[in-house]
Amino acid sequence: MKHILSAALVAVSLLSYSQEAKKAPAKLNVKVVNTEDPICGMKTAQFLKDTVTYNKKLYGFCGTHCKEAFKKEPKKYVKK
Ligand SMILES: [Zn+2]
Repeated sequence: MKHILSAALVAVSLLSYSQEAKKAPAKLNVKVVNTEDPICGMKTAQFLKDTVTYNKKLYGFCGTHCKEAFKKEPKKYVKK
């Protein structure tokens, strides 16, 4: 009986793992004003994973952590 239960648990965890993999963020296919992530300098054309609108412009970032850093101090990163 215990055997069946652990087999079922393995099946469930494998299933949720494959669903998790599908949810992994893909590169976004949107136009952003910046060619480089202002936080880390990565090219948005290659590593665009997240965006934020600031001053009616769409800025792209390599990931959520860079977006959050930008949102804290956008003036620091936007070139005039
Ligand atoms: Zn970045």
